[in-house]
Amino acid sequence: MTPAQLLEGILQGHPAVQRRAMAKAITLLESTRADHRAQADELLTAMLPHTGRSFRLGISGVPGVGKSTFIETLGLYLIAKGLKVAVLAIDPSSTVSGGSILGDKTRMEHLSVHPNAYIRPSPSSGTLGGVAEKTRESMLVCEAAGYDVVIVETVGVGQSEIAVHGMTDMFCLLQLPNAGDDLQAIKKGVMEIADLVVINKADIDPHAATRAQAQITSSLRLLGMHGNPDHAHHNELQWQPRVVQISALKGDGVEGFWNAVEEFKRLQTNNGKLQLRRERQALAWMWERIDFGLKQAFRHHPHVRELLPQMQSDVAAGRVAASTAARALLAAQDHSV
Ligand code: GDP
Repeated sequence: MTPAQLLEGILQGHPAVQRRAMAKAITLLESTRADHRAQADELLTAMLPHTGRSFRLGISGVPGVGKSTFIETLGLYLIAKGLKVAVLAIDPSSTVSGGSILGDKTRMEHLSVHPNAYIRPSPSSGTLGGVAEKTRESMLVCEAAGYDVVIVETVGVGQSEIAVHGMTDMFCLLQLPNAGDDLQAIKKGVMEIADLVVINKADIDPHAATRAQAQITSSLRLLGMHGNPDHAHHNELQWQPRVVQISALKGDGVEGFWNAVEEFKRLQTNNGKLQLRRERQALAWMWERIDFGLKQAFRHHPHVRELLPQMQSDVAAGRVAASTAARALLAAQDHSV
């Protein structure tokens, strides 16, 4: 199928046609072949005017915290409201080992077979930046196909959470109700980027959940004072990160969660922050990919390749200063081939 045909299928296909076009488009976007890449860029450019209308929701948390259970419950809740829901994933383990922490998305038993849901597992290989790029582009396919909410899921290892935060409108961190967990998240710098902290499994020990909610709320307030200046002053026109309790298993608190999301959306749309966040994300994304491309081109440059092994061993052995080696290698790249 040509990019134009794919776009047509994505935009106005009968559900089965649309689903097939989406899968084909995403496969094209994930391909590393140079000729596919050219077609993929053509598709992206054609698709762009039809994107941007979905709400992009990031969800993260350690394995076992209840991400799949929550996304299943939330997804079905949103579908019952008449919305279409897409679920994408960034699995950092796939980039290292080809394995999977997030596992098989058929875990979302009812959501995965629902006609108004589209679930796509994480791209299975590449650098984290590469996997994130594919996911970001897949998100645009889901948006063009009219999905109202695109959920991007990842697992708590730090880097992948930063990547998901960098492509979503709102970033939610799932936590267990036992004390100490929040410290982990603070250490990794993940709590600071959370717009909403969700304490799951509140049904197991409601007292612990309430304690955790109070603790994390005060941690967020401290982080706000020392970190993000936007959060330091209480301001009704400005979203303040907050903490909610849920039981994903029983479905308790899901409505409260969604009300918080709606409030975030309303405030941040009215004060212009949502638009600003997307603009910054797109530019940061462009530069991230430029940095990556330049580095690759550099490593593949014949003069650099020739010099690199010797330079690396000289630097490692302390015979040449790291900065001198870097300058010599950069100069080698400047010489014409
Ligand atoms: P993930 O690894 O973060 O995707 O976690 P899962 O959704 O697979 O959940 C891990 C386990 O916790 C499963 O056995 C779930 O049934 C259970 N679980 C998830 N949410 C809740 C909850 O709200 N309450 C209770 N009691 N168990 C839950």
